[in-house]
Amino acid sequence: MDYLIKALALNNQVRVYLVQNKEVVNEAIKRHDLWPSASSVLGKTLTMGLIMGAMLKGNEGITIKINGNGPLGNIIVDANAHGEVKGYVDHPHVSIVKNEGGFDDALAIGTDGYLDVIKDLKLKEPFTSSIALSGDLAYDFTYYFLESEQTRSALSLGILIDVDNTCKVSGGIIFQLLPNASDEVVDILERKLREIEPMSKMLQNYSIDEIIKILFDKDYIILDKLDVFFKCDCSKERFSRGLVTLGVDDLEELLHKDKQIETVCHFCQERYVFNEEEIENLIKEIKK
Ligand code: ZN
Repeated sequence: MDYLIKALALNNQVRVYLVQNKEVVNEAIKRHDLWPSASSVLGKTLTMGLIMGAMLKGNEGITIKINGNGPLGNIIVDANAHGEVKGYVDHPHVSIVKNEGGFDDALAIGTDGYLDVIKDLKLKEPFTSSIALSGDLAYDFTYYFLESEQTRSALSLGILIDVDNTCKVSGGIIFQLLPNASDEVVDILERKLREIEPMSKMLQNYSIDEIIKILFDKDYIILDKLDVFFKCDCSKERFSRGLVTLGVDDLEELLHKDKQIETVCHFCQERYVFNEEEIENLIKEIKK
């Protein structure tokens, strides 16, 4: 089961988010026909989307856009505060294996570009910040939190893609020092981070409830738990509004040429087909 935990630890001086999201990644693999490198990179970005979404409230939303000019092209993830995430890569058929095993994220993403985080806090303008990419996503997001949110964080992302190209485990954990964190707490946290096993290994053996207990024994409180999903909010209605913006001339041309219009959602690959009658109705709507 996919879910997320928000907690406070180490005498309430460290904020912790943990998520396990194997089903979310498998849904993305299935919808987008991802090859392993795309699964690894999009999977980790979906994990970050869920964590950063959980930091929001109400109807706020977040978009992560990564482009390092590598073979994957754009990597786009959208998430909200309700545990819903969606995402895609421009080029899903990418698989680059390292000599020592595992997938080479940095080569697949490319290192010549930016990580953009766009927050829609339901104010007039969305809030955007950008940092230069290294291709190591855990490092890049840690740097993002320091640079853009002045928050000291430590972050671990784990994912395992099986030989049959399904996701075996996926998840992440982030520790954020609150402004009142003492030097002693910083030392304890650093020691724990050196001692813990990689996230991908822990997720094979434990749930995130067990992982937080292993990490902090009794020195934590769980603030919230949230089920998480791959979920797209597209609809035929929404695509029809997009078609209306094409205008009468373009719609009439498409109507005469193909007798139908097929639209595909980038985020979830859902197809919506508009037949002759539906296109004619859209044209009537514009003329009115
Ligand atoms: Zn969709």
